[in-house]
Amino acid sequence: MAADVVIVGGGPAGLMAGLLFARAGVNVEVLEKHNDFLHDFRGDTVHPSTMAVLDDLGLLEPFLERPHQRLSRAELRIADREMVVGDLSKTKSRTPFVAMMPQWDFLDFLRGAAERTGNFALRMDAPVGGMTEDDGRITGVRLIDGSEVPAGALVLAADGRRSIVRRQDLLPVKDLGSPIDVLWFELPKRSREQGALRIAVTSGSILVRVDRGTYWQCAFVIPKGDAGRLLGLGVAALRERIEAVEPRLGSIAHDLHSLDQLHLLEVSLDRLTRWHRPGLLAIGDAAHAMSPMGGIGINLAIQDAVAAANLLAPRLAAGQQVDHLLKHVQRRRYASTAIIQSVQKLAQDWVLAPVLRDRPLRRPPLPLLALEAVPVLRRFPGRAIALGIRQERVAFA
Ligand SMILES: Cc1cc2nc3c(=O)[nH]c(=O)nc-3n(C[C@H](O)[C@H](O)[C@H](O)COP(=O)(O)OP(=O)(O)OC[C@H]3O[C@@H](n4cnc5c(N)ncnc54)[C@H](O)[C@@H]3O)c2cc1C
Repeated sequence: MAADVVIVGGGPAGLMAGLLFARAGVNVEVLEKHNDFLHDFRGDTVHPSTMAVLDDLGLLEPFLERPHQRLSRAELRIADREMVVGDLSKTKSRTPFVAMMPQWDFLDFLRGAAERTGNFALRMDAPVGGMTEDDGRITGVRLIDGSEVPAGALVLAADGRRSIVRRQDLLPVKDLGSPIDVLWFELPKRSREQGALRIAVTSGSILVRVDRGTYWQCAFVIPKGDAGRLLGLGVAALRERIEAVEPRLGSIAHDLHSLDQLHLLEVSLDRLTRWHRPGLLAIGDAAHAMSPMGGIGINLAIQDAVAAANLLAPRLAAGQQVDHLLKHVQRRRYASTAIIQSVQKLAQDWVLAPVLRDRPLRRPPLPLLALEAVPVLRRFPGRAIALGIRQERVAFA
């Protein structure tokens, strides 16, 4: 029997949507192209907005029982000044911190909860190659092997920023541009300090490191398209730059000894201007690729899943068609997504790009001086990062 909802992609958006629709009594099938969740590093930040959703579902305690680290402050060192640029400790939330949990562990947790509903199936190793259509309406998907998976009512595209809806021009995309890329790597952690997110900035270089318990997850921010040139200089030259921007690393910087330890994230900032067509809705990165700033991609993807389930799942469970409601999901999520992307763009263009231009940095860029001068302003980025601009809670749990 065809599932009511076929979801392309078993990432945070797809699995949370699968869990929510299944909890509401809708038959769901998720198709994931990989055969496990252990693929590339994709960020591990579970924010208070996501934990509030887990709380709505009665899943917060079991989630917090899984191994994780807690972050509540972001500290910045720039032009010889130390500043706090984000503080979640005063956020009105049961969980005023970011829980750092490996993404595969979080996805495995969502899968387990979804499977217990009895309405959920996850097919791994199932790459989708296209959609099936009838008279302009999407009716299901076609796997790469040619087999078809019909959808009783809806296909959800939750297949990330290289989604099929973009590659096959099914929905229109607007590129906002990004002046940065990121090189990711890990360094061992030898100090006992806990819960830190540290950003170090010197002229031409930015290094972000996040405490992951036994190691630092590091992000070296570079000008867009510069990875080939930088990597061509060799690992020793790169390490020298990293040591120069963050001397506090000390001897652990020497653990970066091979270019194979570095992974390139080509940063995109874009969104679909239309998230739906009859029979099809895009959510998560498929609808909007975010900059890594603030580590909010996973959490926005989850918020989309909640909005879609609140608006559509009870109707689908009652056997009703929902094509006419898809626009309401976009309407509900679009403005807050666009606002957050505008802030990310402003920060990229006004703070990151000027710093990376390699000119002498005599004082922090203006937006940072404003944050330093008016402490109350610091609460806004913290709140927006923790809870988003329009927070979604599960309406039918
Ligand atoms: C290196 C890196 C670091 C990041 N760091 C952070 C961070 O710290 N915090 C944060 O919040 N966000 C971070 N992000 C962004 C975050 O990973 C995404 O915003 C988030 O995962 C989006 O969730 P999603 O479910 O929409 O898409 P994805 O996580 O991209 O999931 C899409 C899923 O669809 C599957 N898929 C794709 N195509 C097909 C197909 N044709 N058929 C079947 N399945 C398919 C993929 O295998 C994947 O499992 C990072 C991203 C990267 C690349």
